Amino acid sequence: AEQDQTPDFEMLSYYQELADGYRLAKQSANEADTLRKQLAVSRRVFQSERDKQISLLQESFSAQEKAREISALKQQNALKTAEIETKRLQQHVVMLFGTVLILGTFLLYLLYRKVRSANTQLKQANDQLAYTSTHDPLTGLLNRRSLQDYMARRTAQGERRKTPAETDAFILLDVDFFKHINDHFGHQAGDAVLVELGRRLKRLTRTDDMVLRWGGEEFLVVLPGVDLAGTLLFAEAVRQQLASERLNWQGITLQATLSAGCTLWPAGAPELAVLQLADQALYQAKQQGRNQVVAR
Ligand code: GH3
Ligand code: MG
Ligand code: MG
Repeated sequence: AEQDQTPDFEMLSYYQELADGYRLAKQSANEADTLRKQLAVSRRVFQSERDKQISLLQESFSAQEKAREISALKQQNALKTAEIETKRLQQHVVMLFGTVLILGTFLLYLLYRKVRSANTQLKQANDQLAYTSTHDPLTGLLNRRSLQDYMARRTAQGERRKTPAETDAFILLDVDFFKHINDHFGHQAGDAVLVELGRRLKRLTRTDDMVLRWGGEEFLVVLPGVDLAGTLLFAEAVRQQLASERLNWQGITLQATLSAGCTLWPAGAPELAVLQLADQALYQAKQQGRNQVVAR
């Protein structure tokens, strides 16, 4: 186009000079013809010039448009980058939170297990303590201490009932000539006799009854809600039964009789008196020749 236009510009001045020449030569027809040709070229030049302008304008316009688009794209890009960054941060926060939660839960679980095992151990220790504080280690029977609990319980029951107090039987049993067993067969034989007598006593009582090892070779049986007749019947039956049964210790046959002192305790009455009475009855049984039951 550039090559075509350049001659066009030259053509314009060429036609002008030619037209001027024809005018001076007074050749009007040629002058008019030349001027017509010049006009055609001029139109062509103008047309191409306009096209050029338009295309330049279009180019500049599309450049602006492109710049705008690019800027818009850049903004979008920046927005996307920011979004991605925000998402990444959110993910980090969530992951951190999750980790803390899992770790916290785990620590809590460990703590819970520790506390639970400590509680179990504590409970076992407490149970053990409760057992040893209320039981005799040799015979496994209840010990003196547990009588206080029983009497306190019965007193409370009596206060609630408000009817004439029930009586409980207190039967104090003492092995006759126990010293002989120890002296003849040894302390271990004596121990074995005590254990076996305790077992038999337990066997002869009901679940509500109490069998205690009261002292060295003394047992106390407490029967709740029993009158004097019942007490004597029971004590006599036990005495006979125990006296009739032989004991076997390491191939040696042993025999033991017991003396019993009985008394009744109106549930809720002062505690010492009842045991003093039982003790007096037992003393009397020993005095009268042993292997017998006395009630007071
Ligand atoms: P009594 O008929 O008058 O009751 O005579 P006893 O020999 O049974 O009475 P005493 O009180 O003289 O003796 C009781 C003996 O019991 C004395 C003591 O060494 C013995 N003893 C006390 N506790 C135990 C024990 O746990 N094991 C053994 N093997 N002996 C014990
Ligand atoms: Mg004795
Ligand atoms: Mg004794």
